[in-house]
Amino acid sequence: MNMIHLLPPEIAQKIAAGEVIERPVSVIKELVENSLDAAASAVRVDLAGGGKALVRVIDNGRGMGREDALLCFERHSTSKISTEEDLWRISSLGFRGEALASISAVSRLVLRTSDGKEGKGTQVEREGERVLKVSDIAFPQGTTVEVRDLFFNLPARQKFLRSDRSELGLAVRYLTFVALAYPEVGFSLFQGTREILNCPAVAGAQERIFQLYGRAVLERLSECQHEEQGYEVRGFASRPPSGRQDRAHQFFFVNRRPVKDRILQAALNQAFRGSLEKDQFPEAFLFLRVPFTEVDVNVHPAKAEVRFKESQLVFHLILRCLDKALLQGKGFRAVYPDEPEERPEKWVRDAAGPHAFSPPRQGKEERPDLFPAPAADSGPHPQVLGQYLDTYIVATGDEGLLVIDQHNAHERVLFDKFKEIDSRRSWPRKMPLVPPLLDLSPPETLALEDSQAELEEAGFRIQPMGGRSYALVEYPDILKEEEAQEIFLAVLAEMKEAGTIDRREKLLATLACKTAIKAHQPLSWEKMDYLVRELFRTSRPSLCPHGRPILVKVDRSAIEKGMKRPTV
Ligand code: ADP
Ligand code: MG
Repeated sequence: MNMIHLLPPEIAQKIAAGEVIERPVSVIKELVENSLDAAASAVRVDLAGGGKALVRVIDNGRGMGREDALLCFERHSTSKISTEEDLWRISSLGFRGEALASISAVSRLVLRTSDGKEGKGTQVEREGERVLKVSDIAFPQGTTVEVRDLFFNLPARQKFLRSDRSELGLAVRYLTFVALAYPEVGFSLFQGTREILNCPAVAGAQERIFQLYGRAVLERLSECQHEEQGYEVRGFASRPPSGRQDRAHQFFFVNRRPVKDRILQAALNQAFRGSLEKDQFPEAFLFLRVPFTEVDVNVHPAKAEVRFKESQLVFHLILRCLDKALLQGKGFRAVYPDEPEERPEKWVRDAAGPHAFSPPRQGKEERPDLFPAPAADSGPHPQVLGQYLDTYIVATGDEGLLVIDQHNAHERVLFDKFKEIDSRRSWPRKMPLVPPLLDLSPPETLALEDSQAELEEAGFRIQPMGGRSYALVEYPDILKEEEAQEIFLAVLAEMKEAGTIDRREKLLATLACKTAIKAHQPLSWEKMDYLVRELFRTSRPSLCPHGRPILVKVDRSAIEKGMKRPTV
């Protein structure tokens, strides 16, 4: 008996569909791309269950007549290419002609569409491979596709879907990307009746960034533009020294497609090397126009990868564009403008290079509450010798020397302390007289709504002020006024990524990380002594809450071996 046999067509279809359609956001992506290809000027997306129960995309594009409405579900049915040459000149978003075939194979789908001719439209109802019903309906020009119960007939796939919240997060992210790439199109996103994103059509990227992120983000950016050999890049990037705490605002588009690309990323990093404050990342919204023959944007149907023929050229294009913007004056300020009194001393020590070891010194305590006097009975503990490179505390341990990372150590100490405060649910709070105002982006608003309870328990109370604006009316007492806003945003960013179980830990870890002293900061002897004592009282002195090592031991035996001294 032979062992190889052909799969029945329904099964082959489903397998193929699964390759294009992985999760709700892939459905959204395919449908929105079709709307854009149909020249829609407004696209609305409705979701239920993060898209697992329902994805509905409504557009006012060119629509389809009855014949096309039936044909569009056939595999390799497309209006976008007809000859092989077309393949190489393609500028539309979709052209494989398999999106609708795939989506309909794994869902319950209703298509309503009209091309505006004959004053009527067509409705097609399908369930998996079967057409249930085709009818004439009254319908304005445009197309609505409703996709319910994704993977209802592929339970194995269903298992790979994430929580509603997490699928919704992917949808918001995707729509933010397209909204940035197509400012002339209006986009809105609803989950049930809750409006998550709403960006009416505007003239350009600048207005779109404003709609999505508000004034504060826009004010940190400067415009850039550069053209070379038929390539062009334009957009907005950070104006040093202020950047952002994370990489959430780094967007690249190639011929209006959002892409993730190593070369583009590397060029961005290089352009900003050394010009941002510590622990800050550049923000960038960069739009590249590359000749269609020079780039393959369809390396993978579902992933945002590109392949450039001339990657060196692209790298230099971005670099030059950003360099130009950085040089255009405005951007050039000292890197650490707020620490004048520290500087001369610091320079002397830096000049000392590898010998930058400083004995303990006295210093003002700018955050006394985070460095209280240690408990009197803290028992035997390592003795501080001094600070190395303003970053490590050197101390004597039982069996040799300890080199302790001051930031990680403080983070561990604070984390344990915060956990303790948190377990009593009694965060002391501060209510600023004039609450700082923040503009939140759609993903941030979502994160805020989802984690409001946790944030409030940790001392952050936020009040909506209309539109994107929120006021930070209360924050944990341990935060300094000038950092409260930034730390709140950092916590929010963490919450956006966090799952449901680890949220609280993440919140505390972020608070600890952001309030802990940084590297390259001279410390007084009291602080170092406090840190070392407290560190050895914590639950895990050797690992910081993010899992990074806190200390390196230089064993006495290694020292003695180096000295060729017989070990005792
Ligand atoms: P592709 O986009 O690769 O051509 P699809 O399966 O996504 O393949 O769509 C098949 C065809 O259906 C498209 O080429 C287009 O002609 C038509 N179509 C799909 N969605 C829309 C829409 N929203 N408005 C108008 N026509 C559409
Ligand atoms: Mg398509």
